[in-house]
Amino acid sequence: MDEPLNVESSIPENKHLTAACDQCNRQTRHKVLAQTHVHWEYGDGEADNWIDYQIIQCRGCLSISFCEESLCSADVMYGEENPPVERRLFPNRIVGRSVMEGAQQLPENVYGIYEEAHNALCAELLVMAGFGVRAIVEAVCKDKGITGRNLKIKIDGLAEAGLITSSGATILQHLRLMGNAAAHEMKLHAQFQLSAAFDVIEYLLQGVYILPRQAELLPKPTANSNQNLD
Ligand SMILES: [Zn+2]
Repeated sequence: MDEPLNVESSIPENKHLTAACDQCNRQTRHKVLAQTHVHWEYGDGEADNWIDYQIIQCRGCLSISFCEESLCSADVMYGEENPPVERRLFPNRIVGRSVMEGAQQLPENVYGIYEEAHNALCAELLVMAGFGVRAIVEAVCKDKGITGRNLKIKIDGLAEAGLITSSGATILQHLRLMGNAAAHEMKLHAQFQLSAAFDVIEYLLQGVYILPRQAELLPKPTANSNQNLD
């Protein structure tokens, strides 16, 4: 990286921005706790690049994260009031896509794949997220001893074992094709499509692993339970 023209660090008194929060799972107001503004100049002043590195704190849950906002003069139209600032958040996150509640209760191998796929989605690594969706289904089948010479048969096996409904199996077959597209055609899936796929995957994981564990915590029915029904 070239030597910057100027570097200014400051602690703003009252600077805020709106950004996704992975704890609140929505867009929230964040306070900028500290920032460093860096200015690069290229080609003897032909182009400028500015980046703000900011430590930010959500005003809802108080979690602290990092925001990088960059702007290049080459991308700014003359007289443009709202130039296209590119924003990156660390850790990566997208609104409405926080880690599923109870995810830590998943079997270790399933959780590992789920976590990587989720990270890929949040980082907008869409091809990797597509692989991940397929890998999660494969991992669940392996964990539950569902065998078959291909994933299509394994998904049918999940339904036959009563682990998913027939409509759930239909959706997973669609996800399988989505995974195939990522693997064989390197097709970029739109983020919203993959996010919808994650909704289905999380529903599957909830039903197969998390809800049964929660059910174990409920009091066991007694011999008199049925007599008390009204
Ligand atoms: Zn928050």
